[in-house]
Formats: sequence, structure tokens, C-alpha cells
Amino acid sequence: TLILAFESSCDETSVAVIEDGHKILSNIVATQIDSHQRFGGVVPEVASRHHIEQITKCTNEALAQAGVSYNDITAVAVTYGPGLVGSLLIGVTAAKTIAWAHGLPLVPVNHMAGHIYAARFVDEFKYPQMALLVSGGHTELVYMPTEHEYQIIGETRDDAAGEAYDKIGRVLGVNYPAGKTIDEWAAKGEDSFHFPRAMEKEANYDFSFSGLKSAFINTVHNADQRGEELNKEDLAASFQQSVVDVLAEKTMRALDRYPVKQLILAGGVAANHGLRARLDHDMAKFHPEVTMLQAPLKLCGDNAAMIGAAGYVNYRHGDRAGLDLNAVPGLMFDRMKI
Ligand code: ATP
Ligand code: MG
Ligand code: FE
Repeated sequence: TLILAFESSCDETSVAVIEDGHKILSNIVATQIDSHQRFGGVVPEVASRHHIEQITKCTNEALAQAGVSYNDITAVAVTYGPGLVGSLLIGVTAAKTIAWAHGLPLVPVNHMAGHIYAARFVDEFKYPQMALLVSGGHTELVYMPTEHEYQIIGETRDDAAGEAYDKIGRVLGVNYPAGKTIDEWAAKGEDSFHFPRAMEKEANYDFSFSGLKSAFINTVHNADQRGEELNKEDLAASFQQSVVDVLAEKTMRALDRYPVKQLILAGGVAANHGLRARLDHDMAKFHPEVTMLQAPLKLCGDNAAMIGAAGYVNYRHGDRAGLDLNAVPGLMFDRMKI
């Protein structure tokens, strides 16, 4: 089974060809980061224009690199939400056009399910499963009783973890997206500021990062006013330690409450070295019975390979969209009913 997959929810245009849901024949990613950096974030109008310019090129490259033609493709999968509406529409329109022109089934994919399925390229999934999804727009713990069911058991009440990284990065003069640089600085610093760990001890699986962000910004501004320059590596390490502590602690508690066979770590922030190392340590110590799959570093950020992996599962479950498929910017998993 060959899936031709499209991803254009934010600032990456990506097209992939995936075999049987777990083999990457090609995964072309055109990033627009350079065009957005001078604005300090993604500008939706600029993003849409880039997607339009890139999508045909990416599609041709994905097919060429995979060494296949449209005749070999089984189905077309596409991210239809969540994301920027103008960006999503480019991928959705391209996928619809190709599905229609070549008489192929059209399979809708939730971008966040895609992030989870990035880990499918590491090993097979076992259920029930828990996913810690940490990205630019989301921070959530998702329980998966089966391969096709997603139930949120906890999520951020304000900023997403990646969003917090990008916002504090801005204060330190780091270009958008700041996560990778802050992660590198953190490795060289010490947690000397002891920023708050919001909701760490609360009996739920929700998160909050806006208090941490404010504490960080106030610390930097107050030092500025005193004419004092703080060590940026220690600031980064302190911020990261606070984020990682809360993510790890809540994840361990979620696994205490919901027995699973596997833990998945996925989303852009899953590339964070501090978080990966901390979960390795905590899982071995507190949940050795649960295997952990961390999305490959190269597939943590947005890409179409992950959409092809999730799309393959949706395809097997009979998920189909018509040519009236629309972008759903606010698409969300259901919250688990207790
Ligand atoms: P969503 O998936 O929620 O719709 P998105 O697609 O914009 O949002 P991703 O592409 O999954 O988000 O992730 C991008 C985010 O990951 C950015 O906020 C970026 O700063 C962050 N990030 C990338 N690498 C790292 C890292 N090593 N440490 C921390 N954060 C990181
Ligand atoms: Mg991105
Ligand atoms: Fe994403």
C-alpha cells in the first residue's frame, strides 16, 4: 500500500510517499523559516503564498525520489487540521485535485495524530498506549486504547510548551523558532533561577506554561533595569528544567493512573535533548514495564511522512473524504469522558 501524503498546516510544505504505513520512500520538506524569522513568528499570508509556490515542486520531487508514479499510489492522505486555515487549504486543495484527477481515495488526517505516528517509524505500536504530544501549538497527554482512537486526558490551559520556548527565546534575542537554540544553551547552563513548576503537584494531567514564561520575562527585565546581564545559558537551563520537570512528572503520574504498553513522545518539542534524556531516566526508574518510543529527531517537526503513517491507519479503517473536504483550523481530539 502506497500513501501519497500532504502536510501544509503551518510553515512547512511537505509531501511524502509511505509504504505500508512505516517505510519512508520519500519525505520532501520545504521550510519557510527564513521568510518568517524577521517577523518573529509565522505570518499566515506569507505562509499561504509559500505553500502555493512549493507544493507542486514538492509533489514531483516526492514521486521522483520514491521512484513511483501516480499509477502506483493507493491513496492520498492530507492534513485537514489543526493549523492555519490558509495554509491547510493549499495542501487540502492539492490532495483533492490529485485524488480527483487520478481516481484515488482521499484520506483526511488530523495533524496531531500525524505527530504521534512519527514514532511509528521507530517500531510497531502496542495498545493501549499513551502519547506525550509537545509541539508549537499543543501540549497534551493522549490515551490511545486502539490505533484509531485518541482521548485527551490532560492538556495545557494556556501556552503550549513550544510556544513558551519561542516567546522566551525572543526575550533573549533568539530567532524564531527558538527551541533548538535554547535546548543547546540549556545543556551548558545550571538551573540557578528555580522558576515555578506550575500545576506540578495538582491531581490532574493538565499543564500551564504562561506563569513560567512571565516569571522568566520578569527576571530578565528586572536585571535589565538594574543594568545587570544574566547568564543566558543558566537562564535557558532554568527554563528548560522547569518545563521538563512538569512534563516528566505529569507523564509518570498519567502512567500510574492509566496502565499502557507503550509511551510515545512526539511533536516539535520532542526533539528536546533534556526532555528525551529525562524521560529515558524516569521511564527506566518508574515504569520499566512500559516501552517508550521517541519520534526520530528528524521527524519531530512538521513533515508529511508522519501524515502518511497516520493516513495509512485511517485508510485501513475506511476513513474517506469527498471533494467537499474543508480545512478545520480548530480540529481537536475529544477529551476522555470520566
Ligand atoms: P502544532 O503541531 O501544535 O500544530 P507546530 O506544527 O507549529 O504546532 P511543531 O512543528 O510540531 O509545531 O513544533 C515546533 C515547535 O517545536 C517550535 O515551538 C520550536 O521552538 C519547538 N522546538 C523545536 N526543537 C526544539 C527543541 N530542541 N527543544 C524545545 N523545543 C523545540
Ligand atoms: Mg513548523
Ligand atoms: Fe506540528
